[in-house]
Amino acid sequence: RAKEAGRGGFCFFAADMNAQALQRLTLENDLRRALENGELEVFYQAQVALADGRLTGAEALVRWRHPEKGLVSPAAFIPVAEETGLIVSLGEQVLRAACRQLATWQRQGLPRLTVAVNLSPRQFRQPDLVDRVAAILAETGADPDWLELEITESAAMQHAEETIGALRRLREMGVSLAIDDFGTGYSSLSYLKRFPIDKLKIDRSFVQGVPGNGDDAAIVQAIIAMARSLGLALLAEGVESEAQRDFLQAQGCAVAQGWLFGQAVPAAAFERDHLARHGA
Ligand code: C2E
Ligand code: MG
Ligand code: MG
Ligand code: MG
Repeated sequence: RAKEAGRGGFCFFAADMNAQALQRLTLENDLRRALENGELEVFYQAQVALADGRLTGAEALVRWRHPEKGLVSPAAFIPVAEETGLIVSLGEQVLRAACRQLATWQRQGLPRLTVAVNLSPRQFRQPDLVDRVAAILAETGADPDWLELEITESAAMQHAEETIGALRRLREMGVSLAIDDFGTGYSSLSYLKRFPIDKLKIDRSFVQGVPGNGDDAAIVQAIIAMARSLGLALLAEGVESEAQRDFLQAQGCAVAQGWLFGQAVPAAAFERDHLARHGA
């Protein structure tokens, strides 16, 4: 009987595995179709100066308008896109759309703002990444001074030598560079110093805990001190409350992004909610 139960257990397990594999395969095929049919849309979230609430930039965040499921968040499909390599063409679609959008904003005569686009580790490892970015800038007429690329700490730390070369060339083109989700990896000060970057984005997981959680407060203070000593700009992610904002500002973090200032919204809503007042 034990044997039977074991087998039964195994069959159950296998069936479960199949269901999971099938679900993944469906998602992969769906995503392939989405990329071909232009179902992906770029939303924008405001980045603001804490001193006066002035808009400094926007982060481009991908959304999937699924024909049946409605709006799907990136957490549900970015990991599969990354595993399957679909992230490369997805990332390029997002970059192209964001550059097209920023070129439009430029032509409207708005004061400079940065548009930040996420680069996945896989995209970042492409040997011709810099040429691809240059081609998209040329094609869309976007000013590289308005473009910021976000890479995660772990993506930057892999293959450090090649990474430094690519970052340097991007920067020479006028593109600025931010380390996303900072604090969740393990960059040392000396390592970070070698990277030609402009900005650290303090991860939301630490911002969430301030001012109440002593450990989070200490980590945020340490990151702020680190950025200051390396001459890097700072942005705090995921600011939801006035208490968080006040703490960050008092500690010397000048710029933030989070629901307190607005969620990621379609370009038209971003224009209405944030750009209408920008520079006016
Ligand atoms: P991320 O780059 O760290 O982006 C910040 C995420 O935090 C966004 O989630 C944003 O909507 C969310 N967020 C912002 N403010 C708040 C807040 O006050 N409270 C809370 N709870 N959340 C806040 P989203 O849009 O779901 O994106 C999740 C992640 O997916 C992004 O994290 C990024 O890693 C990835 N992602 C999004 N778009 C792209 C893309 O075009 N390419 C790549 N490679 N990754 C992307
Ligand atoms: Mg980001
Ligand atoms: Mg982030
Ligand atoms: Mg994050």
